[in-house]
This record gives sequence, C-alpha cells and structure tokens, in this order.
Amino acid sequence: MPDRLTMQDPRHQYPAPPFPKQEEQQSPGIVAKMDPPADHGEESYIGFGRLRGRKALITGGDSGIGRAAAIAFAREGADVAINYLSSEDSDAQEVVDYIEKAGTKGFALPGDLTDESFCKTLIADAVKQLGGLDILVINAARQQARKSIDEVTSEDFDKTMKTNLYALHWLAQAAVPHLPPGASIITTSSIQAYDPSAHLLDYATTKAGIVAYSKALAEQLIEKGIRVNVVAPGPFWTVLQPSGGQFPEKVKEFGKDSAFGRPGQPVELAPIYVLLASQEGSYITGEVFGATGGKGVA
Ligand code: NAD
Ligand code: MG
Repeated sequence: MPDRLTMQDPRHQYPAPPFPKQEEQQSPGIVAKMDPPADHGEESYIGFGRLRGRKALITGGDSGIGRAAAIAFAREGADVAINYLSSEDSDAQEVVDYIEKAGTKGFALPGDLTDESFCKTLIADAVKQLGGLDILVINAARQQARKSIDEVTSEDFDKTMKTNLYALHWLAQAAVPHLPPGASIITTSSIQAYDPSAHLLDYATTKAGIVAYSKALAEQLIEKGIRVNVVAPGPFWTVLQPSGGQFPEKVKEFGKDSAFGRPGQPVELAPIYVLLASQEGSYITGEVFGATGGKGVA
C-alpha cells in the first residue's frame, strides 16, 4: 500500500462496505475485535515535529479517533496522557507503547468521566505527570442506538449527557487555570449535530450541545490566548459503532452513503487534530472542522 503522503484516489484508499458481521461487544468495545482492523496510524501516520515539547491529555485516547490523535501527537513530538475506562486497559497499553516508541512520554490515566470528582482528579493527575498541560482533547463519548423514543430510558439519557456534556464542562473548568497562552482545547462533535439520526436522540442532542459550548468557550478563552475548536466527523470505522453505537445491519453498510462510498479511518482525522493543537493553527478558534464524508457542517 502506498504511504499516506502519496497521491491516490481517496475513495479506494481504505476498505469499503459491505463489512463482515462484527463480533458482538458491550460498550466500550475493544479495538482488536474489529474486522477489518481500523487504521489509527499505528503503521501509517508520519509526524513532522509540529508539537515538539507539548503536553497533551486526550479522553477516549485508547481507541478510535482519540487513539489516532494520541499516536499522531506523539509522532509530532508531544508527551501524551490518555484517559479511558479501566475495562479498556489492553487498548490503552498498546497506545502508551506507541507513544513511547515515538520517543515521547505516555501516561495511562483510567477512570469514569461521568463522575465530577474524577474529572477534577484526572486534570490534576495529567498536570502532575506531564508537568503542565498545553493541549486538551475532549473526545470520549457514549453512543447507544435505540429504535424508538420509548426505549431511551432516563438512565440512558442521563449517562449520555454525563459522558458527552457534563464531563466536557467539568474537564474544561478544571483545566483552564493550568492552560498557558497558546494552549488549545479540541472537542469532538459529529455530523449528528447537524443531521441527526432517528435512532440517536440523546447522542445527537449532546453533539449539538458540544458545538454550542465549544463556540461559547472559544469566545471566552481567546482573552487568555487559548483557542477552542470542534471536530465534526461523519462515519468513521471505530469500535464505537459495533459496540451498540449502531444496529448491526447499519455497521455492515457503514459509510456506504458517504461521498467516498466508505467510512473514514481514524488516522484520516489525525491531521485535523494536529493542526488545531499546533501553533500552525494560530488564527483558528471557535471553528467547526467537518470531515463528514462530503455532507458538510451547517
Ligand atoms: P471509541 O469507542 O473508540 O472512543 C470512545 C471512547 O470514549 C472509549 O474508548 C472510552 O474510553 C471513552 N468513554 C466512554 N465512556 C466513558 C466514560 N464514562 N469515562 C471515560 N471514558 C469513556 O469511539 P470513537 O468513534 O473513536 O469516538 C470518539 C469520538 O468521536 C466520540 O466523541 C464520538 O462521539 C465521535 N464521533 C465518532 C464518529 C464515528 O463514526 N466513529 C462519528 C462522529 C463523531
Ligand atoms: Mg475504547
């Protein structure tokens, strides 16, 4: 396969549906069970030292989009701490190994973000381990598909709000006092904020909320020289989908109706996170970066 910098037709760069039936997994899923495997940049991401000496914390950094950001940040020269749930220890350890192989420091900081006091502890631990904090990627999420409104229980609604929205506020609030001018906060929204699916009522609501919160925070924090931006992905081949995020019949055809006829791979988002984190993104704040598969964000 040509490397990621070689010009080629992007429609055929990665696997397209139909995909085989995925092994059933509870949320959160484990990366190794995906077929075909996802590309998080393990062998493919090429770094250029754009984040040399930076200190980054990434939630959901064990798998999917967060893993791709973690590997890319390390190859760009950053020390990286990742948060995840302790049931994902095996995925997280692989990521820490990739970070260390890149020659920077990696830290695994497991814990549940639906707990406010844990969010505060996480920021404090990250600052201590990394020796400061320059980049905060708030990326962890809960997505569980439900056929109809009466199946979305209060417990579902509460857990999705806590994971995707409350944790965003708790983490940002705890982090701001530590962030120096030039620091960057990056949140992960979704095409679901703009074009919500019927089976993702609670999730889509949080993804719209993330856009509003991040834009408001960007207005506030530029007065401290801190930038805040949002990434809004379309369909990406991550373990979120086959662990309850989509119904199995949807996973089989995942990404088919995008302009590319295939889902994106997590590594294809890594350059956006790197740009937004780095000083090269010096005039970018309060923006939503779409990688929706051709559908746009508006
Ligand atoms: P993923 O399952 O690999 O990552 C999500 C991570 O969230 C998990 O690894 C887990 O560690 C973390 N998480 C969930 N609940 C948590 C909790 N209570 N405490 C701590 N961590 C918790 O899936 P992904 O697709 O890489 O998701 C990353 C982000 O991308 C999410 O915000 C998701 O909404 C967004 N997104 C994904 C897609 C897609 O198609 N995959 C599309 C649009 C947006
Ligand atoms: Mg995971």
